[in-house]
Amino acid sequence: MNMIREPARDVPVIHEADICVIGGSCTGVFAAVRAARLGARVAIVEKQNAFGGVATQGLVNIWHSLHDVHRKRQIIGGLTEEVIQRLRKRDAIEEESYFRLNTEELKIDLDELITEARVTPFLHTFFAAPYCRDGRLEAIVVESKSGRGAIRAQQFIDATGDGDLAAALGLAFQVRPNLQPPSMCARTLNVVGVSFQELMWKHRDEVGLEEDWGWSTTLPGVPGGRMHAETHVFRVNCAVAEDLTRAEIEGRRQVRAYLDLAWKHTDKKPVLLGLPSYIGIRETRRFACDHRLTEKDLLSGRVFEDAIACGTYPVDMHHSGDKPGITFKNLDGSEITYDGRGNRRAGRWLPEGVPGPDYYQIPYRCLLAGEYPNLLLCGRAIDADEGAFGAIRVMVNLNQTGEAAGVAAWCALQAGVPVRQVNPATLRSELRKGGSALP
Ligand SMILES: Cc1cc2nc3c(=O)[nH]c(=O)nc-3n(C[C@H](O)[C@H](O)[C@H](O)COP(=O)(O)OP(=O)(O)OC[C@H]3O[C@@H](n4cnc5c(N)ncnc54)[C@H](O)[C@@H]3O)c2cc1C
Repeated sequence: MNMIREPARDVPVIHEADICVIGGSCTGVFAAVRAARLGARVAIVEKQNAFGGVATQGLVNIWHSLHDVHRKRQIIGGLTEEVIQRLRKRDAIEEESYFRLNTEELKIDLDELITEARVTPFLHTFFAAPYCRDGRLEAIVVESKSGRGAIRAQQFIDATGDGDLAAALGLAFQVRPNLQPPSMCARTLNVVGVSFQELMWKHRDEVGLEEDWGWSTTLPGVPGGRMHAETHVFRVNCAVAEDLTRAEIEGRRQVRAYLDLAWKHTDKKPVLLGLPSYIGIRETRRFACDHRLTEKDLLSGRVFEDAIACGTYPVDMHHSGDKPGITFKNLDGSEITYDGRGNRRAGRWLPEGVPGPDYYQIPYRCLLAGEYPNLLLCGRAIDADEGAFGAIRVMVNLNQTGEAAGVAAWCALQAGVPVRQVNPATLRSELRKGGSALP
């Protein structure tokens, strides 16, 4: 490859903290806030202009149930529940068996959470490189309008989704050949009564769209407004810069293409109200950790002594381009597949009459990657097989991995031990004290 050599340079240390969180979705913000509430000095680095990740910058406005499948026992609490309560105060949330959020209000609530907990925020700041000394991660180098700077900390939490810090440290990861493909979301007005899926089943060839499956939902407080995730961009890995650029442009083209179908084949004139700051990325790198969570762990309701999160969201696999569509394996034993042509097939992964689990658990071990004593992973980069990933990847689940990483980093500091030696009982007890609804 053609190369240039950058001259070596000194980088100013722009901030020192106990814990530095990289990536500011709800996962990262919740990690930072939980650690700061325990008394740690915390910094958080986010490349966008606001916190919230896929929820705010990606427009994805649905959080799933906080209860077990029978809706009897609450299994998710903590900051997810707190944020829901904040949003309720301004009617910024609609509740059915799941929650639809006003994600613009969510941006402001996350700012407030950060400010109230005295976390030091760095927005418009990109993680660029790790700085290690004597086998220990000592600082990260970031880039912003002010140039390059270092943030020194004792503990680091990688909440970048893609695991950018872990990858730069050379930690082992996998990128599956059939990654769950990304979707360009969009907000529209004036599409009441229009089914973009039906339009695409009939007319997709006219606008160059492949067979596909997608969904849409309403926007709380916006009569006639909708949020769409109607299509996918296939055959890309969004952790590769060239693919990401291609995916953004192709995703926006797809939105224009299905809107054009409504203009042409219905009496509606849809208004494009908003596009996200970045394409919705479902899956990229997943890192080898002390435990790889399996579909079997989840669907058998395996109990972990170091459980730090619980969930009920089904195994949900958006298939890649060679076999477009989606498969859901629900905890009640049912299985539903939609193909890319509008056909639905229902069956069971469990025999009739055999009960599935009430909920599943995610262990702390899934956050422990590599040998660095002061690094934790959280969010969608943690270790899970294809099926388990399909279930744990939703926000109410990943939010809890953030809270666990924040509290675990604080526990490690308090005890003066590597993150791998944090006592699971202490971690779970601190999580519960801070509002988590762990069993
Ligand atoms: C189209 C789509 C629809 C979905 N639908 C739902 C749904 O209905 N409900 C649900 O719960 N889940 C849904 N999901 C899944 C869920 O949104 C994601 O799995 C989840 O948000 C991932 O969270 P995360 O914190 O790991 O990553 P992200 O939300 O991607 O957050 C990563 C954060 O890190 C920042 N970052 C990344 N790299 C750097 C860097 N180098 N320097 C600084 N900052 C960086 C990013 O800007 C971002 O804020 C959907 C996903 C997609 C794509």
